[in-house]
Amino acid sequence: MSRRKTKHKTGIARLEKIPYHDAWIAFVCLKCHKLNTLIIGRKFLSPEEAYKTARWKCKYCKYVHSSKSPLPFKEWPKEFTKVGSVHARRFWEAFFRISTESRESYWKQCNVCGRILPFSAFSRHAGWGPLERQMECRSCKGVINAKLNPLRTKEQLYESSIKRRVADLLLEGENEKILFKELFQRFDSKCFKTGKLLNIKNRASWEIDHILPSKYLYPLTVKNAALLSRDANNNKGDRWPSEFYTNSELIKLAKITGANLSLLSRKKPIINPHIDVDACVTRFLKVREKSDLPKRLKELRKLLIAYDLVDRLSKENKQVLGL
Ligand SMILES: [Zn+2]
Ligand SMILES: [Zn+2]
Repeated sequence: MSRRKTKHKTGIARLEKIPYHDAWIAFVCLKCHKLNTLIIGRKFLSPEEAYKTARWKCKYCKYVHSSKSPLPFKEWPKEFTKVGSVHARRFWEAFFRISTESRESYWKQCNVCGRILPFSAFSRHAGWGPLERQMECRSCKGVINAKLNPLRTKEQLYESSIKRRVADLLLEGENEKILFKELFQRFDSKCFKTGKLLNIKNRASWEIDHILPSKYLYPLTVKNAALLSRDANNNKGDRWPSEFYTNSELIKLAKITGANLSLLSRKKPIINPHIDVDACVTRFLKVREKSDLPKRLKELRKLLIAYDLVDRLSKENKQVLGL
């Protein structure tokens, strides 16, 4: 089968001439037990029609599957396998029904990998052909999604969580103490995102949003703290404020907290330009008694390089870290 020269925006070429809306039937040959597939087109067969008219010939052994063929089961009594016997009739009725009784009985061809697969191998697409299934099988769809989906892989998420952890360790000592009562006063005891009323005593129901994420080396300060319900805070995660809050929310937030609106509304995250990286690293190197030091150092080096912060270190710290 030939593949299209111009690739789809997914980067995956689709096979030409695949009648990807068409229905197929599939059956296992009664005689040689091999799987056969047969294109039916855009109109389903009814089980009655199939029983009366179908002549499905096995590609391999040429046995014809038809209510007018004797059953090829040698070990069955003759009167069961004879054309027109009640047994044979019942057998053929059910045989054709299995392949045609519902949409789910049909198969279809994937126009990416070219395989003919059962109905359930395709995801739903309303209005597409009689089967209302997508052009590509779910396996191929997985590849397409991996290409299109900006969602991060597990590994990237893991990398991101390490960054955050290292950043949190670096920021120890930079954070301000947030007085809960004052936080609640500033935010009128409401989740800033959802407006839901929050109870200061139910500590599990609310969280302090690090407006500018610690991952980018912004310490938790009064200016950098928002009151959110736990759900809203989980939704925000490590996102930059402009990716989570609307413009009018950002303005309101700057008013409440005194934060810098230009910074909050930036489209892309920026590493805190004011943080004293060297002081943070010096502190980091003093307090890590219990942790796995080689691992932490490796993570720290990675972060400093990724964030382009090496030049902000003293000669001494560079040396200690081997940078
Ligand atoms: Zn066969
Ligand atoms: Zn496929």
